[in-house]
Amino acid sequence: MTPRNRLGTFSVSTNMRLTASDFASCHRPTSCDLRVFLRHQREQEAEPSAYEIVLRRLGLKHERDHLATLGTSVNVSAASLEEQVKKTADSIEAKVPVLYQPAFAATEQICGTEVEIVGVPDYLILDGDGYVIRDLKMARRIDEENHPEILLQVQLYGWLFERSCGTAPKGLQVHTGTGDVVTIRYDDGAAALRELERLLAIKQMTVEPYEPVGWSKCLGCGFIDRCWARAEKAGDVALVYCVDQNLARTLHSQGTRTRKELLASFDAASLSELKRPYGSREQRVGKAAERILKFADAMEKQQEIVLAAPAIPPHKNYVMFDLEGMPPHLDELDKIYLWGAEVFGENPSGFKVSLSGFGADGDREGWIGFLANAKQIFDTYGDIPWVHWAPYEETYLWRYAGRFGDVGGIASRVARNLLDLLTVTRESVVLPLPSFSLKVVEDYVGFERKEAEYGGAWAMATFIEATETSEEGKRKELMDKIVAYNKEDLEATWAVFRWLRGKVPSVNNAS
Ligand code: SF4
Repeated sequence: MTPRNRLGTFSVSTNMRLTASDFASCHRPTSCDLRVFLRHQREQEAEPSAYEIVLRRLGLKHERDHLATLGTSVNVSAASLEEQVKKTADSIEAKVPVLYQPAFAATEQICGTEVEIVGVPDYLILDGDGYVIRDLKMARRIDEENHPEILLQVQLYGWLFERSCGTAPKGLQVHTGTGDVVTIRYDDGAAALRELERLLAIKQMTVEPYEPVGWSKCLGCGFIDRCWARAEKAGDVALVYCVDQNLARTLHSQGTRTRKELLASFDAASLSELKRPYGSREQRVGKAAERILKFADAMEKQQEIVLAAPAIPPHKNYVMFDLEGMPPHLDELDKIYLWGAEVFGENPSGFKVSLSGFGADGDREGWIGFLANAKQIFDTYGDIPWVHWAPYEETYLWRYAGRFGDVGGIASRVARNLLDLLTVTRESVVLPLPSFSLKVVEDYVGFERKEAEYGGAWAMATFIEATETSEEGKRKELMDKIVAYNKEDLEATWAVFRWLRGKVPSVNNAS
């Protein structure tokens, strides 16, 4: 196998470069074409968060650990791309068993534009008379739904390899966060080239493409401040709670770009008939129409609407309940590292926290500690509501009962007493807010945090730091910060709870 793409035949004279990283730009942290456009325009982007920095560090460690298992390898990374491509070609010709950071580049005409296509997979591994391309990822699920960008990247590496060496790779592999090696069927680069064509068209746009903002879509994106400021200034229809991404796009394409235009152009009947893409088919807005218009109206008037008395069972005391956990792609399993609970009301309990340990049995220890705290609460207060925000707490309660058992039926008793305050809030009030995230609602009700840094992602990054340090003092300092953050979450939940409990529907809205 003699690589064709030797230095001298490889041209870097084209103005447009497309790389395998463009797929990640488009799909991470969430899918958004605008991010591709803005990066190409070199728009100012926020610095990576503490969470992203930790993820990158873990990714590099994962890469180094794996490299150590592959035996003798040649690191072909170099100061310039041209050098790296040449070193890669030379090493392939010399049949080096393992190449780390090989690089490929090719020029190609895409829709009349000459583009330079570049890809740097993690490894090339000699397998008989050919090479397997292997990329390392922290992700655990390598599929179209969870990580389309990974599939596209490795397909592009395969295509670049074939262009450079004149023969297809022997295989495409992804070494995942679980340590498994997933094989991807090579499609001759067809899907990757199709997507590159689409991304090229975005980069060549002269006018910014419309992308609806969305709370979960934009939260981890470096352009969030920029895009939200613009959306708010414009009164973008995408800011209306319950208007999903496809509906915002449909409305926008039909000329309904703002909340005002939405209210002027539609009543509940006409909006309910509007169809927007839904999976592979189309679906009417239906019953959600009335609610959407109420939210649009509330935002326009900056006035909340109370729909019904909040369904809160009367009790003298309530437990506020909140967990901090690691997502499954960052740990050996999805793990709750902090179980926080505190009784508020007439007879407060003080903050009760259970932390997972750092040893092999740490996960179970955290659970057992939580059950002990919960038992103490039941012993003191009997059956009282356990108030949480969103389904996360219930999901993990059952997951842990399945994982480590439910000693004395405590977890089942907690589950029987759960009260999801998010559901209660959504069913009783229409707020002039684009999101019902606890952080947004607590801010609306006037709750002020004392801790400067907060957020689930920040807490995860801090926990990872605590896991990695061997200094006891440093670890304690980090865990104390997370504990203080969780305590504030409970206080924020209580603040929202108290605010909501005082709501009474007006006569006009009661029907
Ligand atoms: S902030 Fe939102 S809309 Fe803007 S680029 Fe990021 S994901 Fe896209």
